[in-house]
Amino acid sequence: MAEETTNTQAPAAQATAPAAAPAARGERPVRPFMGKRRFESRRKVCKLCAEKMDNIDYKNFQFVKSFTMESGKILSRRITGTCAKHQRQITKAIKRDRNLAILPYSLPKK
Ligand SMILES: [Zn+2]
Repeated sequence: MAEETTNTQAPAAQATAPAAAPAARGERPVRPFMGKRRFESRRKVCKLCAEKMDNIDYKNFQFVKSFTMESGKILSRRITGTCAKHQRQITKAIKRDRNLAILPYSLPKK
């Protein structure tokens, strides 16, 4: 019984003499895919899509401000998770607010 279980690997080991070269090629260690991933990605959801906000009002500057960094820079889509359509609207609103001096273009580092 024990021999039968190991039978799958036995012929390859025994047939070293005649077919040495092809066997060596075939026996190259193939790394199996380990099921675990290093980190799990969490799905980012667009805030504005979730709340079904169609157009962003530049006058709602407190909301618009939440998409900027402390220094005044616009946060990227990669960070906030907004969709392309809403990111375009946010940038427009931020730039409008900057022009109206509601939001700063930049703030000095402390
Ligand atoms: Zn969206």
